[in-house]
Amino acid sequence: MALHRIFRAVVTGPPGSGKGTVSSRITKTFGLKHISSGDILRANINARTELGLLMKSCIDQGQLIPDDVMSRLILSDLRATDQSSWLLDGFPRTVTQAEALDDTCSVDTVINLNVPFQTIKQRLTSRWTHLSSGRVYNIDFNPPKVPGLDDVTGEPLVQRDDDTPETVTHRLKAYETQTEPVLEYYRSKGVLQTFSGTETNKIWPLVEAFLHRKLQLVNQKVA
Ligand code: ATP
Ligand code: MG
Repeated sequence: MALHRIFRAVVTGPPGSGKGTVSSRITKTFGLKHISSGDILRANINARTELGLLMKSCIDQGQLIPDDVMSRLILSDLRATDQSSWLLDGFPRTVTQAEALDDTCSVDTVINLNVPFQTIKQRLTSRWTHLSSGRVYNIDFNPPKVPGLDDVTGEPLVQRDDDTPETVTHRLKAYETQTEPVLEYYRSKGVLQTFSGTETNKIWPLVEAFLHRKLQLVNQKVA
């Protein structure tokens, strides 16, 4: 579907709720630019930038990066892509970040992936990631064609350092105390749309149908 107007969306949800997978499908189907806070941070760690080295221990312990660092990182990216439609994945994760985003631009829709914590714990500890693209596999229900290798590039997959059971527990706690209030923030603005389930493949068609309707309306308003 071609977009006639700038459309800006956020994907949110607990760690491992499928934000990355759903975001890739959205950007592929609707042609938005995908901006993933986690992927940007991991790229910094991989490239051993000063920021990356500083942030690695924070991430490995399952803690959130300080708001001012995170907001500067993401908002400078958004300003650089001024006139295009985008999808933010993993940001904002606190009300302070949501307010900082609001000061820069307004969000049309927030897609909230509501997945039970029990499902998430099982999922994250059997997850393998292709670091440079952010593609994820799960040895239980979405294995790569060749074990240990990315389907597209053939490069090796890694298990993220923050996908250990202990860190996953910390990440879920951080989500409850710091990120859940963001849902209320967007609910009160009337832009929150929640999708519940335990499988990304069952949640995805609902998200896709919702965005088709939404974008049709956006396009009609312009026409
Ligand atoms: P998923 O793989 O489902 O996205 P996740 O949401 O926990 O799981 P990422 O979004 O990749 O993982 O983020 C990984 C880590 O990076 C977080 O645990 C946190 O430490 C840090 N991080 C990412 N985005 C933010 C943010 N907006 N604010 C603060 N810290 C962040
Ligand atoms: Mg992610």
